[in-house]
Amino acid sequence: MKIKEAVFVVSNSDASKCPAPDRPEYAFIGRSNVGKSSLINALTKQNKLAKTSSTPGKTQLINHFLINDEWYLCDLPGYGYAQVSKTERAKFMGMVKNYISTRQNLLNTFVLVDIRHEPLQNDLSFMQWMGENGLPFCIVFTKADKLGQGKASKMIAQYKRVLKQTWEEFPPMLITSSETRQGCKDLLDYIQQINEF
Ligand code: GDP
Repeated sequence: MKIKEAVFVVSNSDASKCPAPDRPEYAFIGRSNVGKSSLINALTKQNKLAKTSSTPGKTQLINHFLINDEWYLCDLPGYGYAQVSKTERAKFMGMVKNYISTRQNLLNTFVLVDIRHEPLQNDLSFMQWMGENGLPFCIVFTKADKLGQGKASKMIAQYKRVLKQTWEEFPPMLITSSETRQGCKDLLDYIQQINEF
């Protein structure tokens, strides 16, 4: 799929004010600093569509972008800020989980993880929750350019070893880099496949 047009629609903290669920939607989520904004900008070939930031955790908003007038790209707020209290974090994850589990037109969630990191507990618990609730997701490894091919394969093998402890089947996995655009086409083709289904 080629992205011809990407338009910012609305940003808000209230799920009920999000756009009407009148088109297929795909969400992106991950820990803060995982490279989510950079990936959205790389996918849409717009440098400033999603805001990349060096001060994570400031805005916890749900952003909607309309792509090719066909589908919504939903940029969900990042999780895992050290600065935020446990209570606030739980409240925030409650809001995000509520959104993901009730949004009727949400067809897939891309869960981003930094390819350099060992599997992290909050990513694993989030995926566990998705699986237990039958919510479709893919794991998207980000920043692949920061590792050589060999090291990247090792990190993915390690991720799979950890997932294997609780999962019978692996979710689909994509390896990406916003710097080199590695995996961008695969991710967009994945969306197209679901759209055409
Ligand atoms: P977000 O908080 O998840 O939206 O993360 P950002 O997109 O703001 O990225 C966090 C930092 O990682 C920034 O300094 C980005 O330049 C850097 N970054 C993001 N994606 C990549 C990538 O694919 N390759 C490299 N080398 N750096 C990246």
